[in-house]
Amino acid sequence: MVYWHETEDVVPGPALAETIECDVCIVGGGFTGLWAAYFLKEAEPALDIRVVEAEYSGYGASGRADGFATPTVGKDLQALVEKFGTQRALEATQAVGRSILEIGRFLRRNKVDAEYEANDYLMVATSAAQERRLAEDRALAERIGGVAPSILSREESQAVIGSPAIQAATRVGGALVNPFKLSRGLARVLRDKGVTIYDKTPCVELERGVRSTVVTPGGRITADKVVLATNVHMDSFREFRRKVAPVWTYAMVSEPLTDAQLDRVPWAGREGLVEAKSLLTCARFTKDNRVMFAGGPVVYYYGRDRGEHNMSRGRAYEEIQREFLRFFPMWRDVRFAYAYGGTADVVRDYAPHFGTVGDGIAYGYGYCGNGISMTHLGGKVLRDLVLGKDSDYTRLLVVDNKDRKPPMGYPPEPLLYVGSRVVTKLMDWKDSRA
Ligand SMILES: Cc1cc2nc3c(=O)[nH]c(=O)nc-3n(C[C@H](O)[C@H](O)[C@H](O)COP(=O)(O)OP(=O)(O)OC[C@H]3O[C@@H](n4cnc5c(N)ncnc54)[C@H](O)[C@@H]3O)c2cc1C
Repeated sequence: MVYWHETEDVVPGPALAETIECDVCIVGGGFTGLWAAYFLKEAEPALDIRVVEAEYSGYGASGRADGFATPTVGKDLQALVEKFGTQRALEATQAVGRSILEIGRFLRRNKVDAEYEANDYLMVATSAAQERRLAEDRALAERIGGVAPSILSREESQAVIGSPAIQAATRVGGALVNPFKLSRGLARVLRDKGVTIYDKTPCVELERGVRSTVVTPGGRITADKVVLATNVHMDSFREFRRKVAPVWTYAMVSEPLTDAQLDRVPWAGREGLVEAKSLLTCARFTKDNRVMFAGGPVVYYYGRDRGEHNMSRGRAYEEIQREFLRFFPMWRDVRFAYAYGGTADVVRDYAPHFGTVGDGIAYGYGYCGNGISMTHLGGKVLRDLVLGKDSDYTRLLVVDNKDRKPPMGYPPEPLLYVGSRVVTKLMDWKDSRA
């Protein structure tokens, strides 16, 4: 059971049951599709926008994310600078950083309580190799003219988050949200603004033409423009076959901590905690003072298996609990009430892709596990792509064009499965080096 799903009741909206026409049809009601609808409606209030969602908003990755809104584009800044150069990497990173603040402003203006806490997060080192990574990240930020965070000593770090595992840390600007409440609230705001969202309405076929038609079990929508925003399901559209690997990541959420348990660990600022390694470990408080701990294995299952049965794979949870006790041995008596997972959309070049196919179809995917603030920025990119505007957003490095190609496709099975095992082992090895 996903903890966040318990924090708000859902009554799915009506499914599509007719044949209609509209200006823009968005396929997928997660953050990508909803922010695209939001910015389009803001820019052109008269547009008739329809969203078709296979389940309900927040069912996918958006409603089960760990809730860290970070200034990250794709995997990390280093990879971005190597691939795109300093200037372009900085532009994109600053734009996604602004999205963190703008999400907070959106929530306040629209009176959506998504438990937004602008607490920053600590990138923590628990080994000499991770301390080196903090120093490298800082040097890189200094070199490119970004914000270079100071490195906190062991004592300084542990005064912020009292884990004996932490040897050093940097403070990074960011916020925490309840991602499910953000998804549900955003969908509500859109409905109030006149956007129609059809729940339980999967697109089962896309008929391409001057105006494309989204075919669903109960009806059809023909639109001037279509936006594809289905994340790990992008491979059901022929242009994106094998572009995305669905990779499972797992989390556990405790029962609410007692005052006595809370008193044992100094953590007054409620910052997020992220360990400085490739296969992330992260931790945070929820609004009701549960501790959420995520990490453990990041797994690709044979044949792109995205089935919910993968939520109950026990190996991940054993590892998460081991890691939890490494960070917080004084919380040996904390009981976990929720254990769940979700699939992140990983692409071969580890950075998101936005673009158009022909004139009428736009797309956005490839967040590699860092999508909360990036989907907000992506909403503006998609708005301008749909409206055919050349803008600062459509010139960002995340947009496919003559200079930046769509990602290479993954190989077929069994090569993808074997390759994913090798890459995970390599990352594990890199992370475990002293
Ligand atoms: C466990 C986990 C933890 C994460 N933690 C963080 C985090 O802390 N910070 C962060 O920045 N990012 C995090 N992410 C990544 C982030 O959640 C995603 O990048 C982001 O939510 C992607 O949004 P989306 O709208 O593209 O995808 P989704 O939210 O998956 O939305 C896609 C929607 O499309 C629907 N759909 C699929 N196929 C069809 C179809 N044929 N027709 C109609 N609808 C369809 C699905 O039902 C789904 O609702 C995490 C991801 C996971 C899985």
